[in-house]
Amino acid sequence: MELIREYADWLYLVGAILFILTLRGLSGPKTAIAGNRYGMIAMAIAVLTTFFVAENPVIWMIVGAMALGAVVGIARARTVPMTQMPETVALMHSLVGLAAVLIAIAAILHNNQLSTLFAYNAQGLAEAGVQASHMSKVHLFELFVGCFVGAITFTASVFAYGKLAAKKWAKTIAGAWVKPLQAIVFIAMLACGIYFFGFGNMPAFWAMTVLALIFGWIWIAPVGGGDMPVVVSLLNSFSGWAAAGIGFTLENNMLIVAGSLVGSSGAILSYIMCKAMNRNILNVLFGGTMGATAVVAAGGGNQVQRNHRSGSADDAGFLMSNADSVVIVPGYGMAQGRAQNAVKELSELLKSQGVTVRFAIHPVAGRMPGHMNVLLAEADVPYEDILEMDEINSDFAATDVVLVIGANDVVNPAAKDDPSSPIYGMPILEAHKARTIMVIKRSMATGYAGLDNDLFYNEKTMMIFGDAKKVVEEMTKSISGSGH
Ligand code: NDP
Repeated sequence: MELIREYADWLYLVGAILFILTLRGLSGPKTAIAGNRYGMIAMAIAVLTTFFVAENPVIWMIVGAMALGAVVGIARARTVPMTQMPETVALMHSLVGLAAVLIAIAAILHNNQLSTLFAYNAQGLAEAGVQASHMSKVHLFELFVGCFVGAITFTASVFAYGKLAAKKWAKTIAGAWVKPLQAIVFIAMLACGIYFFGFGNMPAFWAMTVLALIFGWIWIAPVGGGDMPVVVSLLNSFSGWAAAGIGFTLENNMLIVAGSLVGSSGAILSYIMCKAMNRNILNVLFGGTMGATAVVAAGGGNQVQRNHRSGSADDAGFLMSNADSVVIVPGYGMAQGRAQNAVKELSELLKSQGVTVRFAIHPVAGRMPGHMNVLLAEADVPYEDILEMDEINSDFAATDVVLVIGANDVVNPAAKDDPSSPIYGMPILEAHKARTIMVIKRSMATGYAGLDNDLFYNEKTMMIFGDAKKVVEEMTKSISGSGH
């Protein structure tokens, strides 16, 4: 035990390096498993070392909390369907935020901290001396930042969870009053925080915490559906900064490093996603309601009746088996229908017949970053067959058949040619350029952004209605039965 205490900083350093290797590994599908293992080892080192270096640990409380967390975590990990991962991730971020708030409160209520704070009060200042006031000022600043970032992360993540899980209480708010209200609450929160920081005033601390909780909610509530992916990734970043804040409060270097890594990688991911959607991060967070406007646009007014062409799985099977090249575009519907294994089987069959089959992945297809990559990896689709948007977009014009499986917004040409569309400017997979387009979905319903899609009415498009898994299985059956 003494040995671990003595070498704690070295162990934390090893943990920090392993966390960096984790992120490096997770950046590519081939190295992701190794990356995950580094992460597990790093986390084990961090938890065990912290356990041994803690002064006077209340063992039963720590073990009890860890056991409870493990039981809930394992149960959730075993039962959560892939389609509910985004909201689960959002819920986890909320717990990190809540932990930051509770630790800040605990640090303040703890006797030592309380006396330090009082020493910084106007009357106590003279008795405490310059040194003490300087120290407590740094500490107050950590508590101030850690607590308000944590509180905002907590309620914003709870809202994001509710929104993604389509809970009734997570209502998008809109109106001219929203921005002034956000500004008032934000300024009041900062004013209370600064007052607390300046004078160690406890009521100001409580007021700041409550205002930060309110701000988290009203800040995210106006953000519409299409922008939710960026918000989830940004909250991931916030939860990292909140953890780093806890690290300062607890004087734990490991937590500071790990929190900063999560914070900065989440910020980089948010930037990449904004670029992929051609959105400006400030516009996403303060610009209003892309998804909400879209829903109004799709639902309001008289819808013009338009014609589309539909076909059967047999027709589609025939066309694909006679093609030279097929590009499969998976979207949320493939995840919803759990069709990934059936899709892999279809692609293998086509390949065995000499058809070139590739998969085209949009950065925000599905409901979380990397959603499609994870599903295709789970089905053992070879990595070299999976191409990102930038790699495949120029090939669509020379592709015989594009098979869109439960994707909608990410192939909506309005993003390219309709300046009035709420998703105008968002890069899309240019499926409309292929020679023949086939779309599997259950109806003519809109996708996540609530927008009609011209691709479905294109004269080159054949709609194949039905559940993704069932239709794909029928296609495979039809191709193998026809003996092509
Ligand atoms: P969309 O949500 O635009 O469309 C999915 C389509 O799949 C729907 O039109 C639906 O049509 C169809 N579908 C659903 N279930 C099935 C099923 N069982 N079988 C067949 N079809 C099915 O998906 P995209 O992937 O194209 O776009 C993702 C959208 O989600 C984007 O707007 C993105 O911004 C947003 N988003 C992305 C996140 C991310 O990080 N990736 C996170 C949150 C939101 P029908 O009902 O007719 O079957």
